[in-house]
Amino acid sequence: MTTVREHAGRASVEFSREEIWMNILTRLDNRSPSVHSPSKQPHSVIRPSRAEAEQAVTTLIRWAGDDPDREGLLETPARVVRAYEEWFAGYGEDPDELLRRTFEEVAGYDEMVLLRDIRFVSHCEHHMAPIVGRAHIGYLPRKRVVGISKLARIVEVYARRLQIQERITAEIANTLDRALQPLGVAVVVEGAHGCMTSRGVHQSKATMVTSRMLGAFRDRPETRQEFLSAIALHGAAGSGNLFT
Ligand SMILES: [Zn+2]
Repeated sequence: MTTVREHAGRASVEFSREEIWMNILTRLDNRSPSVHSPSKQPHSVIRPSRAEAEQAVTTLIRWAGDDPDREGLLETPARVVRAYEEWFAGYGEDPDELLRRTFEEVAGYDEMVLLRDIRFVSHCEHHMAPIVGRAHIGYLPRKRVVGISKLARIVEVYARRLQIQERITAEIANTLDRALQPLGVAVVVEGAHGCMTSRGVHQSKATMVTSRMLGAFRDRPETRQEFLSAIALHGAAGSGNLFT
């Protein structure tokens, strides 16, 4: 991944979109507090019955001002509850278990492993509104690697919970750090928040960017820059609405 390196050292008076973005990211990361991130839910909750959950949806339909008994809405509570089973399936999965199988045969490979543009849908814990976004994950293996599809699965497990974006970002990084004990982990998450794009301040184009840098990505600016350049160059080409 040396092809993007000279980009960082380019002398330029005007800042490109990627440079501005990288600046923001760097500052965000320096400021970011350590987010407590248990891999499992900290306490068990007593789940209501399916009928109780459907009843709750019926109440919300009435609260919105509609008649839950009209034909178009009759099956809605059942559908919403089924959708919840999918959107929140992450509570039933253990991310550490997912990464249990790692591979030590890396044939001396010690360069960055990067998976970018991992799409996800999550829900914010403040409004239960969708967060639609993408995650970029990089790590520098010490001696263990993991199947590349597992990186996408980790994002999915954490996304399918009630979340804040800062926590998803930290949880992904911390889980990989525990499982692979690599030289470093970098995670950048971009998200469009439904609670902000569809209501409140109505910022339909705003996306939030969060990052978590561990090990070499935190300590070595050139390693961090290599990662950020790789995802920024790609991101700039495919910029635009995350919902498309
Ligand atoms: Zn929200």
